[in-house]
Amino acid sequence: DVSIALFTADLRLRDNPVLRGALRSARRVVPLFVVDRGIAARGFAVPNRAAFLADALAELDEALRKRGGRLVVRHGDVVDETAAVAAETGAGEVHLAAGVSAYADRRERRLRAALEQDGRALTVHDAVLTVVPPGALTPAGKDHFAVFTPYFRRWEGESPRRPGPAPREVPVPEDVRSEPPPEAAALASGEPSPGLPRGGEATGQRRLAAWLRTGLEGYARDSDDLAGDSTSRLSPYLHFGCLSPTEVVHRARERGGAGTDAFVRQLAWRDFHHQVLAARPAAGHRDYRGHDDRWRKDRAAFDAWREGRTGYPVVDAAMRQLLHEGWMHNRARLLVASFLTKTLYLDWRAGARHFLALLVDGDMANNQLNWQWAAGTGTDTRPNRVLNPLSQARRFDPRGDYVRRWVPELADIPGRAVHRPWRLPEGQRPADYPPPMVDLTAGAERFRDARA
Ligand code: FAD
Repeated sequence: DVSIALFTADLRLRDNPVLRGALRSARRVVPLFVVDRGIAARGFAVPNRAAFLADALAELDEALRKRGGRLVVRHGDVVDETAAVAAETGAGEVHLAAGVSAYADRRERRLRAALEQDGRALTVHDAVLTVVPPGALTPAGKDHFAVFTPYFRRWEGESPRRPGPAPREVPVPEDVRSEPPPEAAALASGEPSPGLPRGGEATGQRRLAAWLRTGLEGYARDSDDLAGDSTSRLSPYLHFGCLSPTEVVHRARERGGAGTDAFVRQLAWRDFHHQVLAARPAAGHRDYRGHDDRWRKDRAAFDAWREGRTGYPVVDAAMRQLLHEGWMHNRARLLVASFLTKTLYLDWRAGARHFLALLVDGDMANNQLNWQWAAGTGTDTRPNRVLNPLSQARRFDPRGDYVRRWVPELADIPGRAVHRPWRLPEGQRPADYPPPMVDLTAGAERFRDARA
């Protein structure tokens, strides 16, 4: 009469089919989280996501305790530990969310084999990490959509389930051994970024409520304004599953108003990239479409980009926001990715790796496939367009406030002159800010020649 709900990227009680399935199948449930050695070994346990994860696990434990239960935490190999807990408790079933990455796939296969050997069952739940499960929508004769617009048309026509409430009670067997929810320092070494948000379901719910109340309405108009910072910032809560994407879509539609369609469309982008990665796991590290790019190797140029010293203020502001907050505005992500891959002609994989080392919302589907999109090796239908950081700055940071916020060397330059400090009269140029590291026209030509 025991089953296991194995939490992965669904660290919530509300609208969680995994937990609900486990509760339905047995009288008592072990809500299990395994601090997975495999994830650390693959370099995914970085300080920013570790800190957010530690918050999320603490909030999950607290919420379970309010319902008469607790979170059971183990450390080690996720398959071995889950099988061991199943053996210790006599659990007949393990419930798990369907994943999309090659890693999640292997975990699922190994876990099924280990459990079945002992006469136990694995139940995998769809539509936990995404609104529409990867593979549910396909164009005729293909296994996934390679273009967003037709995907979105079909996605919009789907009717996702009504999100479910959190269970009132979660009865957990008393004698299961558990370690306390881990501190961030036990999950990764190194300091998290100073401006990191707090993780967890309750925190995410408060953010969602505030966003629906005050942010959503203006989303279509303001979402690209770098200084206005008027996007939802829900991405890390979605990444760790502190919020259910189905619930977010449902609540946004219920709220309605001007910004709803544009916001819901972004959540469809999230599903879109997940279905690409699920169908093409290799796209996590290999070009999605063949391009024969012979990316340059230039360590000094890469370091200047990474540290926010390119001499292009809007690029540098964005890279420093990433270092400080573990997060970056979507428009800024697009323009720094275009700058690295197209203007500097450096490999998207190096940029994606740097993002994954810092992003609190960093994940394989969204990060790798957005990088491929920006590099023109992925699903962009205009793969050879180059974003010019100066025109991007003029459009999306028209007063220069975003740059002044993140680049203190330029904080005294008023108005949009801040975007071209090299144009200032000699005596007014900040001595501690570098000149532009590359000529934009030459960079764009090099790229176009390479792709011709
Ligand atoms: P909002 O604008 O409020 O959007 C709401 C939600 O929609 C987001 O929380 C996110 O879940 C989803 N979303 C929005 N834009 C996209 C998009 N282009 N692709 C997929 N989902 C989207 N997003 C990640 O979650 N993790 C990543 O690792 C990641 N890496 C990126 C790398 C690059 C180079 C680029 C260009 C984009 C990347 N994105 C990534 C997508 C996007 O930038 C972030 O999701 C967004 O900035 C998060 O901020 P927000 O929650 O305020 O977004």
